[in-house]
Amino acid sequence: MQSSLLNVNSDFIQSLVYNERDQLLHWYLKIKRTLPWRAAYGTTPNAYHVLVSEFMLQQTTVQTVIPYFERFIKRFPTVEALAAAPLDEVYVLWQGLGYYSRAKNLHRACQQLCEMDYFPKDVPTLKTLAGVGDYTSAAVSAIAFDQPIMPIDGNVMRVMARLFMLNQPKGPKLHAETLHYIDLFVGQTNNTYVAQAIMELGALVCKPKKPLCNQCPLAEKCRAFNNNAVEQFPKVLPKPIKPKRVATTFIIENKHGRILIVKRPAKGLFSNMYIFPTTCFDFDPRLLMQLTHLKQLQKTIRHVFSHFDLELTVIFAKTTHNLEGEWVLPDDLGRYGMPTLMHKIWR
Ligand code: SF4
Repeated sequence: MQSSLLNVNSDFIQSLVYNERDQLLHWYLKIKRTLPWRAAYGTTPNAYHVLVSEFMLQQTTVQTVIPYFERFIKRFPTVEALAAAPLDEVYVLWQGLGYYSRAKNLHRACQQLCEMDYFPKDVPTLKTLAGVGDYTSAAVSAIAFDQPIMPIDGNVMRVMARLFMLNQPKGPKLHAETLHYIDLFVGQTNNTYVAQAIMELGALVCKPKKPLCNQCPLAEKCRAFNNNAVEQFPKVLPKPIKPKRVATTFIIENKHGRILIVKRPAKGLFSNMYIFPTTCFDFDPRLLMQLTHLKQLQKTIRHVFSHFDLELTVIFAKTTHNLEGEWVLPDDLGRYGMPTLMHKIWR
């Protein structure tokens, strides 16, 4: 169990423990989606597949992840294969998924697993892997190894907030409150299915807007539903306004028709990836003195990061100088690990 229960030992809770968990399980086994990382009922999940999928699914939808996951597993079928691959190649297969620190961490985590020489199933050991925090460790532990723990993500918090009418606002406070209630769904066995069932319920039925309560296996016991208050949960605090940054990206061509890209340092945004020289990313202003034929793109490019919004002006330029970086033919840009933003600019 993850924590002791709060003072919630009512008949309602008892009946939930004994009845609703089973009901949820039956519902899940009937409706569950076939996903490439999901083991068929009664078969042993592949822990590596679960780990890769959990990294990819962070801040990314299932539909987006499916083709990436399939390509990734085809190229790196095992922990060992991924650990031995050059990071640049991992980035190329991650291109378009965004949040590239996940690719770097996943790569490092597989190297750590090779050093351990086994796949740990307990949360504390899983959390020693790069990029594996509370959620991913609990997800791998429950889904891959059927351990008695329930991962908590946004979907799970929403389901719990409505089911029990939890009053804490979305965020760390609701997470802390959910920790107590999620224990109700932990059992001796079948945790692998129940964990996925709650996630599936949040994704397919208990959706953020217009939840399909008439299809919900927990509707009879759902406090928000029975109090006609579904839309009021989870409670939401007003969003803080994100800072806005402006910058300029230079698409620089040499006399051979090659384009300049530069590699980002190992730490920070877009670490180890290739970008066009851009003023907000370690830009050397002396470069401006070496450009000719400057031409500005009419429209600006906007991109949303988790902690700021970026507005980019794009300038095309030529140079006769051998500027530092990689000079790449336009058709070869796809071979370099470049963030989605750079592809957006190039398009
Ligand atoms: S009854 Fe509706 S609000 Fe309650 S858990 Fe089910 S889908 Fe969510």
